[in-house]
Amino acid sequence: MASKFQAPRGTFDVLPEQARGRARVQRVAAEVFARAGYEPIATPAFEDTELFVRGVGRSTDIVVKEMFTFEDKGGRSLTLRPEGTAPICRAYLEHGMQKLAQPVKLFYAGPFFRHERPQAGRYRQFHQIGVEAIGTDSPLADAEVIGLLSDLLAELGVPGVELRLGSLGSPESRRGYLEELKAHLRDNEGDLSQDVRERIEINPLRAFDADDVGTQEVMRTAPTIVESLDGEDAEHFAEVRALLDAAGIAYEIDPTLVRGLDYYTRTIFSFVCEGLGAQSEVGGGGRYDGLIEQLGGPPTPAIGWAAGIERILLALGEEDAREGRDAFVAAATDEQRHRALALAAELRNAGLSAEVDLAGRGLKGQLKHADRIGARRVLILDDDGTAQLRDMDSGEQRPVDPGRALEELGA
Ligand code: ATP
Ligand code: MG
Repeated sequence: MASKFQAPRGTFDVLPEQARGRARVQRVAAEVFARAGYEPIATPAFEDTELFVRGVGRSTDIVVKEMFTFEDKGGRSLTLRPEGTAPICRAYLEHGMQKLAQPVKLFYAGPFFRHERPQAGRYRQFHQIGVEAIGTDSPLADAEVIGLLSDLLAELGVPGVELRLGSLGSPESRRGYLEELKAHLRDNEGDLSQDVRERIEINPLRAFDADDVGTQEVMRTAPTIVESLDGEDAEHFAEVRALLDAAGIAYEIDPTLVRGLDYYTRTIFSFVCEGLGAQSEVGGGGRYDGLIEQLGGPPTPAIGWAAGIERILLALGEEDAREGRDAFVAAATDEQRHRALALAAELRNAGLSAEVDLAGRGLKGQLKHADRIGARRVLILDDDGTAQLRDMDSGEQRPVDPGRALEELGA
């Protein structure tokens, strides 16, 4: 009977047959990152609420609508982490990592939490992998971290991936542009969605992200930030593009690209996958040169990205899969069960995967079960001390010496 309890809205269980594809994504990611000298870091699942308000930005969707915030028994306001960059910058400062050789190159994987409307590819607890290179403003770092996500998606075999690239300039150069943009929005106020209209002053860039037709029409003629880059910002962006060209990484400049977090400066990017439908972004990120200062540290330029593990799995169309077994050790009679268990243990110690029946099945039932779990061979122990080895693919069966089972099974 089904219990009256269900996983909370927007969350899901990872069942054993789904865990394998997930583990592969994490394993390949860790390998790709390690080859480039990025080291693992893990931070807590919750942080002081103020870290995200300051780090992600007071006017962002994440802070305004999506955080799981609660008070602990000591009256402190805590928030389940909606993203990984602000916590890592907090850890960088807390542990004095500015004293290490720069940049500090890190990667992470784990659960994140946002109170969003659940739909395909959008959950309230989801999982991200990500990298950060902290302590350099070199365009080489931009090209390297973008290359890491490109390599990872290629190595995993994610089909139909496209890279969109933009630049937000530095906060100083952005100021002038934002005034131009606000003027354009005010001139067309009547055609904007209420949401965008209410945030013309606090977050005008969000208008590029709007999904209503009226706002989109207005944005078609809006000035873009990429056109208005100048001086060092323009040079930096040109250098990043040249490095990507040289590395053979294809991209499309998207002058309307914006991201949902306030901390981005200069380079921003997004990897989208055509097969994903509405939630088309598999991963994205950018430079956050002002974030560490914003959190009370010294000026520290940095860049990073995060990718959604569920979106990667969706894009891969990953089939649920169970791992097969090298062997199943069957007992022809009850007297042989303890020998079967001991032999399975011996096979496991030799590095093979092996199972025995733990449910009191007869021999026929054991063979059926061996087939169900994908055992490639079954060793049947008979009462007279002899044994049969059955190949489950061909159905062939031949007598073997049970004392030589390890050799017979290729351990
Ligand atoms: P989106 O535009 O899809 O909401 P975002 O701009 O909020 O994405 P980021 O905050 O940059 O995304 O997060 C990085 C990645 O994490 C996204 O590209 C996506 O793959 C994944 N992601 C973000 N929010 C969710 C969610 N609610 N459920 C599942 N994956 C998510
Ligand atoms: Mg979002």
